[in-house]
Amino acid sequence: HAKDRGRGQFQFFRSELDAHVRERVTLEADLRRALDENSFTLEFQPQVNAAGIIVAAEALLRWQHPQRGVLPPDCFIPIAEESGLIVPLGRWVLHSACRAAALWPAPQGVRVAVNISVEQLRDPRLVTDVASALAASGLDPHRLELEITESVLIDEPEAMLASLEALRALGIRVALDDFGTGYSSLSYLRRLPLDTLKLDGSFIADLERDTPDATITYSVIELAHRLGLEVIAERVETPGQRARLCEHQCDLLQGYLLSRPLSTQAFSARLAESRISV
Ligand code: C2E
Ligand code: MG
Ligand code: MG
Ligand code: MG
Repeated sequence: HAKDRGRGQFQFFRSELDAHVRERVTLEADLRRALDENSFTLEFQPQVNAAGIIVAAEALLRWQHPQRGVLPPDCFIPIAEESGLIVPLGRWVLHSACRAAALWPAPQGVRVAVNISVEQLRDPRLVTDVASALAASGLDPHRLELEITESVLIDEPEAMLASLEALRALGIRVALDDFGTGYSSLSYLRRLPLDTLKLDGSFIADLERDTPDATITYSVIELAHRLGLEVIAERVETPGQRARLCEHQCDLLQGYLLSRPLSTQAFSARLAESRISV
């Protein structure tokens, strides 16, 4: 009997697995079609300075799926990465983000930050793609920031560093995203050519209590400043978190407290509305 039960369980897992594989194959096919049919959009989430002025925005990808509604990137970026579709999709993001930013009504030149997967950085055409997105939109290179994660140095670190140097030679900025969640954070700070450090949101959550996270946050801000980097805190959700970050000289804040990610139109309207702080 035990043997039968075991077999039943095996069958159960197998059908679960099949369903999972089918789901993936379907999503991958949908993703391929979505690229042709232009079913992607970008939202822009403000990044504000201590005075509450919007100085930049992060472009965040959304997929208007025909049956499932709007899907967040965590649902499909991993599939796009594994299937190689991230390269054409990422190229679309770059071009769209630069085009949008070039039209923003802002004399000071609000920057746009674009997330880049390691698979894109591995693609030798990335530098050309970035250059052509800048040329096509007319966006000043200093107004484009690429957000990378520590995973870029996991394999082929030399090739990755060469790509990053070539990108920076175009005049664009580089930010290290989700800082503090990976493995060898401090050595990465030494090796990567960076302008900005984005402290991961998981450190911000507990800031109002005197936890190790708070100590780490304040020390990282100081460390980054000593290295000449700008620091941005992600997932700022409460006035208390904002107050503490500003008190410790964090340069920029991003999170629901300041603003949710906004549609292109809503973000432009927010900029045009005024330079009044949020
Ligand atoms: P990320 O780059 O760390 O982006 C920040 C994420 O935090 C976004 O999730 C944003 O909506 C969310 N967020 C912002 N403020 C708050 C807050 O106050 N509280 C909380 N709980 N969350 C907040 P989203 O848009 O779902 O994106 C998830 C991840 O998908 C991004 O993490 C990024 O790694 C990836 N991603 C997004 N767009 C792109 C893209 O165009 N290309 C690539 N390769 N990856 C992308
Ligand atoms: Mg990011
Ligand atoms: Mg992040
Ligand atoms: Mg992330």
